[in-house]
Amino acid sequence: MRLQGKNAIVTGASRGIGRAIALSFAKEGANIAFTYTKDEEGAGITRRLLEDEGVRALAVCADGSDEEQAAKLVKEATDGLGPVHILVNNAGITRDNLLLRMSADDFDRVLDVNLKSAFLLTKACARGMMKQRYGKIINISSVVGVFGNAGQANYAASKAGLIGLTKTVAKELGSRGIRVNAVAPGFIQTDMTEALPEEVKEKMLGSVSLGSFGTPDDVAALCVFLASGDADYITGQVLHVDGGMA
Ligand code: NAP
Repeated sequence: MRLQGKNAIVTGASRGIGRAIALSFAKEGANIAFTYTKDEEGAGITRRLLEDEGVRALAVCADGSDEEQAAKLVKEATDGLGPVHILVNNAGITRDNLLLRMSADDFDRVLDVNLKSAFLLTKACARGMMKQRYGKIINISSVVGVFGNAGQANYAASKAGLIGLTKTVAKELGSRGIRVNAVAPGFIQTDMTEALPEEVKEKMLGSVSLGSFGTPDDVAALCVFLASGDADYITGQVLHVDGGMA
């Protein structure tokens, strides 16, 4: 029970990697407030799975890229669970297209959901974490943010931006006991990657040294480690979970 007595916010946990992170944290004893925006059914399933682990669970329909909603989420989590110790900025979307066909709206929306929400939620949680002189912030970036990927200028920019945010906030808040790290998954089997054409998946698989795609649990295991006391001397890092894709 490495996270016993801790309260965590996990964004985008109605399915996929976010749900796996929330559930793995709950199995280690953490209470969880998580967000979603559309997937009511998935959010209900996540909440029940968390409660089955015997922890407190709050499902909040909130888009963290809106400043008011971000502040309200942190208040609801604090009122409902107590002080927030762990923030996982996981919510993310794709709106893929080649540069010349990508609309400014699709660029902005991806940057807003994937990057701006992490900035706003980090800001909203920072004061409380500074007061308690303890906090763990984990930003779910991507290998695409490190290496780039054709057709994903918006997504790659948002994920690279998360790495810059991670390293900067780690420097600013380290002296207050707040650790900030980024996780860069490779190809993980979720609804997000399920939507890709078969030939794209096959090509990607060819670049994975271990020869298989990852699972949400592979990412969640690293997040549990980073959130736990075992990783207390790690901050400002980008850790890859990609089966050797890079
Ligand atoms: P997913 O299956 O599509 O799930 C995305 C989750 O985010 C859903 O719960 C979705 O719920 C929620 N969400 C979307 N927009 C939101 C918003 N504005 N506010 C709050 N929640 C929102 O995606 P995934 O594959 O699990 O990906 C999770 C994270 O890992 C993302 O940041 C993604 O970029 C990153 N990642 C994934 C892979 C991969 O291979 N799958 C690789 C590298 C990085 P609603 O639909 O209800 O809003």
